[in-house]
Amino acid sequence: MPGTIIIAGAGLCGARAAFSLRERGYNGRIVMVGSERHAPYDRPPLSKQMVEGENFIQHIAEEESYRVGEIEHLGGIDVVGIDRGRHEVTLGNGSTLSYERLLLATGARPRMLPGTEGLRNVLTLRSFDDAVNIRSRLGQGRKLIIIGGGFIGLELAATARQLGTSVTVIEGLQRLMARAVPAEIASTIAERHLQEGVQVLLNVGVASIREEDRRVHVRLADGREIDGDLAVVGIGAVPNTELAETAGLEIDNGIAVDAFMRTSDEDIFAAGDCCSFPLEIYSGSRLRLESWRCAQDQGTAAAANMMGAAVAYDGVPWFWSDQYDLTLQIAGLPGLATETVRRELSDGAFLLFHLDVEGRLVAASAVGRGNAIGRDIRLCEMLISQRAFPNREDLVSPSTRLKSLLAA
Ligand SMILES: Cc1cc2nc3c(=O)[nH]c(=O)nc-3n(C[C@H](O)[C@H](O)[C@H](O)COP(=O)(O)OP(=O)(O)OC[C@H]3O[C@@H](n4cnc5c(N)ncnc54)[C@H](O)[C@@H]3O)c2cc1C
Repeated sequence: MPGTIIIAGAGLCGARAAFSLRERGYNGRIVMVGSERHAPYDRPPLSKQMVEGENFIQHIAEEESYRVGEIEHLGGIDVVGIDRGRHEVTLGNGSTLSYERLLLATGARPRMLPGTEGLRNVLTLRSFDDAVNIRSRLGQGRKLIIIGGGFIGLELAATARQLGTSVTVIEGLQRLMARAVPAEIASTIAERHLQEGVQVLLNVGVASIREEDRRVHVRLADGREIDGDLAVVGIGAVPNTELAETAGLEIDNGIAVDAFMRTSDEDIFAAGDCCSFPLEIYSGSRLRLESWRCAQDQGTAAAANMMGAAVAYDGVPWFWSDQYDLTLQIAGLPGLATETVRRELSDGAFLLFHLDVEGRLVAASAVGRGNAIGRDIRLCEMLISQRAFPNREDLVSPSTRLKSLLAA
């Protein structure tokens, strides 16, 4: 008698898991429950492709595929409780559903700036509905204030400039994208924002925000006041762990899972932005990533393991960001490195190899136009997963093909 797999969260990870279950021959019931009313869609275009108008929602699969795959999607409703003993979840409308296995793919939500709750012109960007709302307020003659110089804020800055909006970015640290991106790459991107007319204020905090006459007034810690039509806060994301926490599952900077995406309950799995997981290539260090590919691949791994396989997730962390015609990509964890070796590529692009104290390649990062850096980063990912100790001269010299450094 086939059972039921419930997926809480209908984002990329949840949808990938649902389709993978069917691709692997699961013949029980699959129910995917999601807070958002939309069918699962990709988030990366939300900050990058607003210029194309309101049709920038990119669904993960055609509506028809859910029907053919017999994947039930309950949209616009939350999973509000888990009864582990009864193997049952409760939904926001009070109904219950029994599960044989449960996947938590609840993602993350934007961190809010305290004191700004309820302000109509202070927004965050996570969902399609957020993006539509923000898009409707951008354009010639409008002024946007972005609080936080991370990926989402800067991608939005680039998009808003392309729509003719005047943009100010306020960043509390000394440089942009300081948490995740090596300084050389961040400075190439920062220069580009300045050329495009973005006002960038560094090393200054926000003291208070208020709304008056439908305008937002941001008072900075140094006393300056900036005003605009809209402020968007991009200061990071918080994993949605409350459901797991209330159910008594282990939490450790996200819902804690093992390499097989299993939580502290053997019938409950978690994957994507909501979970933290150990990564074998970094000696089992526990990480939580907010990355498209990780969410997709963990959804696939969780599906296999919910069906009884033992597929350990061992992907090299990978992230990209598009701003104007520049793309940056990061593979691995640059924060573990003690040395950086630079290789110049054509057309102003460059590649950084990040080595740890023993000379092992632990990360690579690059910036360039269009897809100039994609192939090199892919080869670096392979070197990172092979735990390679490359020779520095080979890394610097563009005439040494990275492929030749890979172990057979
Ligand atoms: C604007 C933006 C741009 C991005 N750009 C990039 C990029 O360029 N490169 C990159 O690598 N990554 C990017 N990301 C990150 C990437 O989109 C995420 O890593 C990915 O969406 C994570 O997928 P997920 O399914 O784990 O979580 P989510 O996409 O957050 O989906 C989780 C879903 O679960 C729902 N949910 C939460 N709690 C419940 C509940 N209790 N019951 C039911 N449903 C629930 C949420 O509403 C949400 O719909 C971007 C993210 C954003 C927001």
